[in-house]
Amino acid sequence: MKCFECGGEVLKTLGAVKMACPDGGFIIFKDIPMNQCRQCGEQYIPGKWAEKIGFMMRNRESLTPSEIIQVPVVTPASDACA
Ligand SMILES: [Zn+2]
Repeated sequence: MKCFECGGEVLKTLGAVKMACPDGGFIIFKDIPMNQCRQCGEQYIPGKWAEKIGFMMRNRESLTPSEIIQVPVVTPASDACA
């Protein structure tokens, strides 16, 4: 399988999928079987797993996190990329 984004080689792997919650938070689903582009990192999640993740997102109040991580939030000065 070739990447639809860049044409790079897509490999079977276990990856993390980050899903945005309506409340502005995120949930990260770890060790999801997927195909990932070696070149650009584009993720191709099998339909069965996309469904599973969708289901877990709808029932996220009942999920038990295996860990809680802190995520740095950076607001760069407007001239940071000048
Ligand atoms: Zn790619």
